[in-house]
Amino acid sequence: SAASSQGVAPRILALANQKGGVGKTTTAINLGTALAAIGETVLVIDLDPQGNASTGLGIDRARRAVSTYDVLTGEASLSEAIQESGVPGLYVAPSTLDLSGLELEIAHERDRAFRLRTALAALAADPAAPRITYVLIDCPPSLSLITVNAMAAAHAIVVPLQCEFFALEGLSQLLKTVEQVRTALNPELTIHGIVLTMYDNRNNLSDQVMADVRSFMGDKVYQTVIPRNVRVSEAPSYGKPVLLYDLKCAGSQAYLRLASEVIQRERAARAVAA
Ligand code: ADP
Ligand code: MG
Repeated sequence: SAASSQGVAPRILALANQKGGVGKTTTAINLGTALAAIGETVLVIDLDPQGNASTGLGIDRARRAVSTYDVLTGEASLSEAIQESGVPGLYVAPSTLDLSGLELEIAHERDRAFRLRTALAALAADPAAPRITYVLIDCPPSLSLITVNAMAAAHAIVVPLQCEFFALEGLSQLLKTVEQVRTALNPELTIHGIVLTMYDNRNNLSDQVMADVRSFMGDKVYQTVIPRNVRVSEAPSYGKPVLLYDLKCAGSQAYLRLASEVIQRERAARAVAA
């Protein structure tokens, strides 16, 4: 069959945290780029109506005629929505502001939580589509139906946590939502890892937050910590991931380390499963 000739199904990771400004989008862009740089074929699915992941990967608004809104309403397939980015091996399904109205439009549909899962299954079965090995889903800053669609479609969640005083606030709510999705919609769902972002080594608070999160979440926390780095925050205004903007900076190097850690965890999980 077509499916068996296409090899391994992609790993699907959702970047979720209902807090805004913690590094979800930055991580989608730069972890995606780093994975592509080490040979994976990556699809970033932009599920935030703000569309910052699309912009940061160089997809300007004029090129968003088919968006994730059309995919989730069932008007288009993911194959139709995906576009090449400026990064070799990295594709983007862009978003538009229409997505902010989606929830009301599909609230009463029986399959409302499974729209993305169904679209990803169709993509994997499409022989004309690129052979994606990693899907990264950039979620909006809420635990809305959009985020639930991401969690219902994903194998695992990656949680960016900003190294700030209130980092852990809201984490238990997020973990509770993951548990509810696992029970009701997606029994396979796991927490892939927690990535500490915007770490500032001149700030004792950053170290304290890091210690607190590690003692609360143990080895779910990736070894790699993403430093606060001005190059990371400048890159999106050039429509580029930081790895293409300044490969040598501390932010780029950290995202490369995170990508190899993500792949290592995947290999370890597969070895246990085999
Ligand atoms: P979210 O998607 O969770 O809302 P973003 O990824 O958009 O968060 O990040 C919020 C802001 O912080 C953005 O302006 C981004 O450029 C900046 N930022 C994210 N990570 C870093 C970093 N490591 N160093 C400096 N600025 C960062
Ligand atoms: Mg975002």
